[in-house]
Formats: sequence, structure tokens, C-alpha cells
Amino acid sequence: MVPDPYDVVFKSTDENGNVVANKSNGVIRDYPRKNPYDTKPGEKPYVLEIVWRNVFIMLYAHCAALKVFWTPCQLSTILIAVGYGILGSWGIAAGAHRLMAHKSYKANRNLQLLLIFFQTIALQNSCIEWVRDHRVHHKYSDTNADPHNASRGFFFSHMGWLLCKKHPDVRKYGSRISMADLECDPVLRFQHKYYVWLVLLISLSIPIFISTYIFGDTFSAAYHMNIFRIVLAWHITWSINSVSHIWGNRPFEKDILPTDTFIIGFLAFGEGWHNFHHVYPWDYKVSELPNYYCNFTIPFIDFFAWLGWATDLKMASDEMIRKRIMKSGDGTHRYSIEEAKKKKTAKELLDLFNNKVLQKSNPHELEGDFADTYWGYGDNDIPEEEIKDITILKPTKGK
Ligand SMILES: [Zn+2]
Ligand SMILES: [Zn+2]
Repeated sequence: MVPDPYDVVFKSTDENGNVVANKSNGVIRDYPRKNPYDTKPGEKPYVLEIVWRNVFIMLYAHCAALKVFWTPCQLSTILIAVGYGILGSWGIAAGAHRLMAHKSYKANRNLQLLLIFFQTIALQNSCIEWVRDHRVHHKYSDTNADPHNASRGFFFSHMGWLLCKKHPDVRKYGSRISMADLECDPVLRFQHKYYVWLVLLISLSIPIFISTYIFGDTFSAAYHMNIFRIVLAWHITWSINSVSHIWGNRPFEKDILPTDTFIIGFLAFGEGWHNFHHVYPWDYKVSELPNYYCNFTIPFIDFFAWLGWATDLKMASDEMIRKRIMKSGDGTHRYSIEEAKKKKTAKELLDLFNNKVLQKSNPHELEGDFADTYWGYGDNDIPEEEIKDITILKPTKGK
């Protein structure tokens, strides 16, 4: 009897640690569907439930942020918000994202604590909650198990997902993602438990205190400037889930939704090279572009690597990237264009172009044929050959 793919229990490893289900060993993978209203006979139909408390919080935050344009404030308050915004962005990009969610490098305790502090500035949920959502997003991208499933459109993937109850598949499949590495850290547990108080202290009270007591600005100016800084950073982060899953090129893997977009790459401190990132989630640079190109998080990590606080920086090799581009890219990468130029005759060029156009599939229409996905270094589903090919810079001493 052919097993129903929806009923096969997905389990990465058995009790002995052997991989039992992934595409490469031929075992059928249980995969969530993309359309939330797609139910099988006998299944409870999905009903979207709005969480009105979150709607009102979001409305209030946006109104309070916009009020900054009608509130006179000192230059010092603006500069404090800019500085705090930069630290918060590093807290998310270098901390919650590249270090904790993807294990793309290792950090010593000092750097871990610094990044947890910075991450709290951004007010984007505790590290544990942020990472859980993000690992599920990578593992089951753009399906019902993805908290911000971009198959449900721009608004849902941008902020709508925060205004309604999660689809039942998020909980079902999310429970299969290992979080043990972070849940055993007492500082992360502390941050998770006392998150609201820590946010009130770190994200709001400290900058407001500096602006009002040290520089003498008004409470209203300092308060609204900080809310504006938080809301602006939210929209930049949310754009990675919406814009970078809808518009842009797919130079590395044309059959997935994530895209590479310059503007998000720039605004989100290098997090917008999202097609690359979904293919190589364990790469600490989240991009293959040279010279820190629009990627303010790489110099941050490199600085701490130079200091000896960051080690085991994982990177995809040029050869690995080139192979992938030729195998599954959409033809927009400079390597693909270089290859195309090597073709001698106009007819060969035309054939190549036609082939690419004909092969170009619409990732929205693909059902059931998923590329192997994993959330980062440490996921059992990364193929052995890929682990062997990872370049590791600044290896931890003693290894
Ligand atoms: Zn994504
Ligand atoms: Zn990621």
C-alpha cells in the first residue's frame, strides 16, 4: 500500500541517531500544504481567527510611531534612536538569526550576552520564540507550517501573520524542530521568561532616560522617536518575509519563493540575499557578494572573529555556489551570464535563453516537489557531502 504523504510521520532521526526520512534516502517526507483552506475529507476546515488584542497593539504602535513627525525633538534624540536601531539590527541579524537560528558561527559567552542584549532592543519576541519561528520558516518555507507563509500573499507574510492565530500546521510541524540547543541556556530562558520587563527596561527606558535626563529633551519626543525606531525596524524585518519571498531574482534555486533583492539586502543589514540564504542557511555571510557589499552584519561578525570572540565561521565555497547556480538558478547570476557569453554562436545563445525561459517554473505552482530544506547547521537533513564542502574560517582552537 502506498502511504499517504500527509500521514507519514516525519522524523529526522531514529533513537540511534540514524536519518530515517529525507528526500535523498528515498523515504517519503510528510510535508504541509501551501493553501490554508486545502483540507482533506474528514479534516476540520481551517478558519482564520483574528487576535484583536494584537490588532489594537499594532494600530497603537503605528499611530504612536507616526506622531514623531508632529513632535519637535533634539538632534541627540534622533542620534540615540539611530545608534539603538543599529545595535538592535545587529542583535537580530548577527544574534537571533545567524548565530542562534542557523548556527552559522560560534560565539563565546561575552558575545552571546552582548547579542542577547542587542536582540532585546529590537522588540521582536524573545530569542527562543524568534528562532523557533525562523527554523520552522526555513524547514517548511511557504507552506502552512511556515508562520509567515508567503503563499498566502504579501500582507499575510508581512504582518498579517502576527494579527491572527497560527495555522495548526505551524504547531504540528514546529514541534518537530529541535530547540534543545537554546532551551538549555539559562540566560535565554531568563530572557524568554521576563521578556516584557526586559523590553521595557532595555528597549524603552534606557534610551528615553538618556534623552530626557542627560540631554534634556521632552519625554514625548524621546518616547515617540523610540517607538518610531522600533516600528521602522519591524517593517524592514517583515519585508524579508514578504518582499524577499515575492519580488526579485532567484539566481541559486528557481523553484523556491525566496529571492535576492538589493534594497532589502541594504536596509536589513545584509539579510535580503534571501534566495542564497534559503539554499545555504548555514553561511555566516548570508551572501556570496565580495567586499561586505551592502551587508553590514559581516564586518560586525568579522570584527569579533578578529577579537577571538567569534569562531567557526561557515561559508559556501565558490565552486559549490557556481555548481548550484548552473544546476538550478534562474540564469540571472553573473556566473550564468558569464557562461552564456562563452557560447560562441548566436544560435547557441538563443537556445540557452530559450531553454532557461522554458525551464523557468513558477514556484507558486509547484506542489509536492520540494527542494530538500533544512534550517541551518545542526539540522540532520543536511546531506553529508554538503557538510564536507563547507569552508570553516577561524576554527575553534583545540579542534
Ligand atoms: Zn525566508
Ligand atoms: Zn534565516
